[in-house]
This record gives sequence, structure tokens and C-alpha cells, in this order.
Amino acid sequence: MKPKSVTLHPDLIRHPFSQNFKGARVSKKSPMLTDYRQGKRHLFISPKKGDIFHICASLDTRYICCSTHVISHISNCPFECTYCFLQNYLTDTTLTVVADTKAIMAEIKDKVAKQPWRFFRIGTWELGDSLALPPLNQMAAALVKEFALTKNCVLKLRTKSSAVEPLMDLDHQGKTVVSWTLNPPEIIAKEEIATAPLEKRLMAMEKVARCGYPIGLHFDPMILFNGWQNAYEGLIKMVFSAVRPKDVIWISVGSLRFNPEMKKKIENNYPSSKITAQELVLGDDNKFRYPRPVRQDMYSLILDCLKNVGADQCFTYLCMERWNVWERVFGRYPVSIGHLDYLIARSVHKRFPKTCPTMPPKGKYMALSY
Ligand code: SF4
Repeated sequence: MKPKSVTLHPDLIRHPFSQNFKGARVSKKSPMLTDYRQGKRHLFISPKKGDIFHICASLDTRYICCSTHVISHISNCPFECTYCFLQNYLTDTTLTVVADTKAIMAEIKDKVAKQPWRFFRIGTWELGDSLALPPLNQMAAALVKEFALTKNCVLKLRTKSSAVEPLMDLDHQGKTVVSWTLNPPEIIAKEEIATAPLEKRLMAMEKVARCGYPIGLHFDPMILFNGWQNAYEGLIKMVFSAVRPKDVIWISVGSLRFNPEMKKKIENNYPSSKITAQELVLGDDNKFRYPRPVRQDMYSLILDCLKNVGADQCFTYLCMERWNVWERVFGRYPVSIGHLDYLIARSVHKRFPKTCPTMPPKGKYMALSY
């Protein structure tokens, strides 16, 4: 999938990354497209302006959040998931990539140096897909090389693509986790338009696991449909015939959620999608979700399936859920966001010591405030 147009900021003309875009239009301004779907087809390569490293914007202290950090150097995405929150978020919808890796790393190094004891999980997927197409995957490869040299950070790439070629043969030092968002083929076909089919994602996953990258799995958003139980059970069997539990660093599980304004956008942009037609309840964070008993059943099914394939050793957590849902699903819950951050770091230290070489200090995590 090639962009229809590429615009290069003049400050980046001599940047090595820009050599892939000879003949691009040169301008200080992005095409400033406001149509969500049109913007996906036009690429703007931009220098870094302002800070782009921060804690995940979805963090909400009413939930037990995983408190990941993110770099928002990608904005918009060539894929078209019907449930994507970007359709209600972006004003300039042009697919934009900040190409200046050195400047991005300088900001990260400066900020993480203030908490040298902490294990920073840093994602590149907040406003787009980490690997969707060149140049996003080439940019990701440049970051993999930089993160290999860091002490207390791990790069989290997250994708629905199979475009992993630029990641092959890199000396990643276990400092990059390559993750896939996964759904059964029925959902991929109807709700994750233009993304890679499941078999292709799994072939790509197998390849990067063979290169020694830790693998992340995200069953999020789980979506209800007739036969969802068998479909998710089949999905987990397929995933673990492609990778071994010992390759998987963490697994997150979550369900469909969106705010009322997004509901209207989904219905306008994707009239054939049925995801807004299920029973949904509005939470006090102004997001629709499936009723709590339904969500609990969905998450419990995933846990049972993981147990059945011998993957219960992989650290598994819920995304944007409260302690009562955790308790019902796992029989226990982290007492705070800092506690979950600690539990993830402790699990990574035990199972992937190259990725998190030092034992995380529990007291410092428990004292974190958000
Ligand atoms: S892959 Fe992610 S960012 Fe891209 S359209 Fe789907 S949900 Fe949105």
C-alpha cells in the first residue's frame, strides 16, 4: 500500500531517512487534510517539534492502567479499523511521521535519566500502527538500533501488519518487543479493513520470534459476535502454534470501548459494521463498553484458553478495567497503577533478564503517583 503523495519538510532534505523519498514535494506544511480517510493516503515527513515522549494519554486513575510510556512520532494510520479512536481525535489527518530519530532519542534519554531505577516500556503506537508500511517500519528499525544501547528502556512496536522485513538481522539486544493486536479472522475481515490477515501476521510473528525478539500479544479489543467463544479459542491455538509461550513477554486483554461521539462517527464512516449494535453501557469515563458480566466472561475465556495451551506463565493483564473485574477474572488484583507497573517489570526481569537486567525496587514503584 503506497501513499498517494509524500511531502518532505525542507529541514529533512539531507536526512538519511529522506533518501527513500526522492521526488517528494518539499514543503514546511503538511497537506492539512481534515477528511479522516483521505488523510491516510498522504504522507508528511516532519522534523520533531516539541516534546513527544509521555505517559499513555489513556491513563485514567479510576482504572488499573498499565502506565506504559509512548512516543507520539506517528500520527494516523493507513489501516481502517472501524473501532479506531483516531476517527474522532485527529484534526489534521495527514499521515505524519517524525523522522528525526536522534532528536527523539535525546528527549527519551533526558527524561528516563531522572528515574534510573525504573523500567520504561515505550510504545510507538499511540496514534498509529508501528509497522504498517514503509517508511514506518524503516523508522522502527532505526529505533530498534537506538534502544539496543539503552539500559532501562524497552521499545514496544505494535502492529496489525506483517511488514517486519526491516527488523530482521538487527542487533536488538532484547530491547525491543514486537507485538501484535489479534482478533479472529471474522473480525479482521469485517472490522480491521486493509490490515494483514491473521495467517500473515502469524507468519511475521514466527519470523521475528526466530530472530530472538520478545513477542507481545494484545487481544484487544475483543469483539462479540455469534460464535465468539470458539473463534477466540481457535485464535489462541493458532497463535501458540506459531510461537512458544517462552517467547511471549506479556499479553494484554481488553474489550471494545468508545465514547458516544465516536459511536456516531463509526456509524457514518462504516455503515456496514455491526459493532455499535450490541448492548453497551456507558461508564463514568464516558465510554461505552459491554456490560461487566459479559466482559468478565470474555476475559475468563481467554485465560482458560491460555492455560490450555500452556501459556499461563506469560504475564497477562487487563486494559482499562477496575479492580472488581480483575478480582473476578484472576482472583486477585494490583492495588494501584504503580503496583501493576512493578508486577510487569518483575515478570520481565525474571523471564527476560536481558530486557530488564535489574530487579525492580518495589517500594519506589508503589510510591509512584499519577
Ligand atoms: S491499526 Fe490501530 S491506529 Fe491503525 S486504524 Fe487500526 S486501530 Fe487505528
